[in-house]
Amino acid sequence: MASKNLILSPEELSDIKAWLPSQEQADAIFNEGKPMRKVLVTGGTGLVGRHLQEIMPDATYVSSKDADLTDYDSAWGLFHGKDIDTVVHLAARVGGIQANIDNQVQFYEDNIRINTNVVSAARECAIPNLIAMLSTCIYPNDFCEDQYPINELDLEEGPPAESNYGYGVAKRAMYSHIKLCREKLRFNYSCLIPCNLYGKYDNFDLQTCHYVPALLKRIIQAKQQGLKKIVLWGTGEPLRQFMYAGDLAKFIKICVSHEICQDLNVATPEIKSIREIAEIALKACDAQDLEIEWDTSKPDGQFRKDVTARQLEVVFPSMMYELLEYGLRDVYMYLMENEND
Ligand code: NAP
Repeated sequence: MASKNLILSPEELSDIKAWLPSQEQADAIFNEGKPMRKVLVTGGTGLVGRHLQEIMPDATYVSSKDADLTDYDSAWGLFHGKDIDTVVHLAARVGGIQANIDNQVQFYEDNIRINTNVVSAARECAIPNLIAMLSTCIYPNDFCEDQYPINELDLEEGPPAESNYGYGVAKRAMYSHIKLCREKLRFNYSCLIPCNLYGKYDNFDLQTCHYVPALLKRIIQAKQQGLKKIVLWGTGEPLRQFMYAGDLAKFIKICVSHEICQDLNVATPEIKSIREIAEIALKACDAQDLEIEWDTSKPDGQFRKDVTARQLEVVFPSMMYELLEYGLRDVYMYLMENEND
């Protein structure tokens, strides 16, 4: 399927540029707000958690080593009697497309336990504020072209994609759980719905990682081994929004400090095909000479799931995003500097 007509038109792009603030305006919003709350972050050792640590160093960051959140008593033990007024819930069993396809039941069981335990224990321990992460891959898969980009009201308009059904329905259950706590019990609980993420602290294990870390790793390996081409999965045609994880971390910090309690998509306005992203990555890694071969026997995943972040722009008009070419370059430089870790 041709993707040209699905990418933002010049008019839409200039519309986006019109609301983009100056760096000074964005910094002012980022730095103001109420004094920082007493925050506990689950999943604090993951991709988003480590980016958050850089800008919110006073929060408490926990991982599965501190508490296995698939166990209710462990979740309760994290919150009970502790001086915490806000939970940022990042912990999840996360994986790339093949890991999701191969382990649907385990992704469902782990995530539904983790999410239900965290939200229930936070509520039972009377923690007033909670922000949890959903994902744009939990949106329905079968919209007509004119329904894209998707907005927050579309979340329950159909089942999630088959390829990540287990992960998706567990996240959907958390969305309903949080909505009930907010609407029936008046807790300040809400969800952010980020698009695909990438960043310095990603999982770079080729067996389990997502598209961008796999792409960067393959490019680096090919350069080191003097290869002429890399093989990537699928047709290259699906459309994706890839956001730098540090941008999501900034927005989480703003939600905490500005007491924003609303379910919001968080996504870059850059919507690109998998093929275009690969070409940008080759440039970011100084590897334009490498050829790409597309292995069409491998799955593509959802064709598109791009969302609009217009609602977020209403709440926070100064949101800025790292351009993909600069973000990928940052990650590439980080990998080269930390090659032996
Ligand atoms: P990640 O890098 O895979 O990190 C997962 C975190 O969850 C780790 O800190 C891990 O702790 C913790 N965890 C996993 N199982 C646990 C358990 N049973 N008990 C306690 N902690 C557990 O994840 P991420 O990429 O930062 O994602 C953060 C959130 O954003 C997740 O909710 C994810 O669904 C969502 N999201 C991610 C993306 C993406 O592209 N990455 C896109 C949209 C939404 P250990 O280090 O101890 O294992």
